[in-house]
Amino acid sequence: MSDLEKVLKKLDEVTYTFRFNLLSNKSTVIEFRPIKVKDQKKLIVDSANETQINQLKALMELLQSCIKTSNLKVENFTFQDFIWGIINLRMKSQGETIDVVGICDKCGHKVLQLPVNLENKCVPGYLDGIKNSEVKIDDLIFKLRLPRMKDIINMPSDLSNSDLEYHTLTNMIDYVSVGEEVLDLTLEEKIQVLDNLDSKYLETFKTFEKDNEFGPTLNIDFKCPACQHDNKIAIKEDILNFFF
Ligand SMILES: [Zn+2]
Repeated sequence: MSDLEKVLKKLDEVTYTFRFNLLSNKSTVIEFRPIKVKDQKKLIVDSANETQINQLKALMELLQSCIKTSNLKVENFTFQDFIWGIINLRMKSQGETIDVVGICDKCGHKVLQLPVNLENKCVPGYLDGIKNSEVKIDDLIFKLRLPRMKDIINMPSDLSNSDLEYHTLTNMIDYVSVGEEVLDLTLEEKIQVLDNLDSKYLETFKTFEKDNEFGPTLNIDFKCPACQHDNKIAIKEDILNFFF
């Protein structure tokens, strides 16, 4: 064994292992190692490709390389499990506190560095399980699921916003069954099925999306230093920004 190998082996031995449970399946325990300098260097390079999809892909790669549980693919995670994983990774690697920008509701005063504790303030959604996941049309049953990361990153990049929504809806169809028989449909076939639905049913699909908070929420309380107003803000979509 070379001297370099000895050092690397030693560093590997002293690396802590942490755990978290998937939100969508609490019996699945994920073991992970903290972020290393080489991971961080890669992320800084990747953040130059600043499209949201590229940033997501970079974070997926980061999470995947830190997960020690074999045969577990981040691309099969729901968006929410993915964010939950990233937040755990950040908490164990770089500390539980992040700085966010707070803007006062009342006077518009901007607090540039508002420290927030991820451990206490991050509320993952659908903690009580997935709600209303079946759409019934006569004896036709649409079983819905939360979209997977691979569905999200493999969306065609040239979609308009309405097509994007449509694609997300299609990816939410896990399977369709008639009575006891489960039908196996491709993505293109699912799109055709959606096209032929009465429009009122489309609303039910959207309700599923609303009923099951896809992402976690960061709830923040702060007193405005300028006007003393007590503010309550919630960060949702931008929750991963602290990584870049
Ligand atoms: Zn204020």
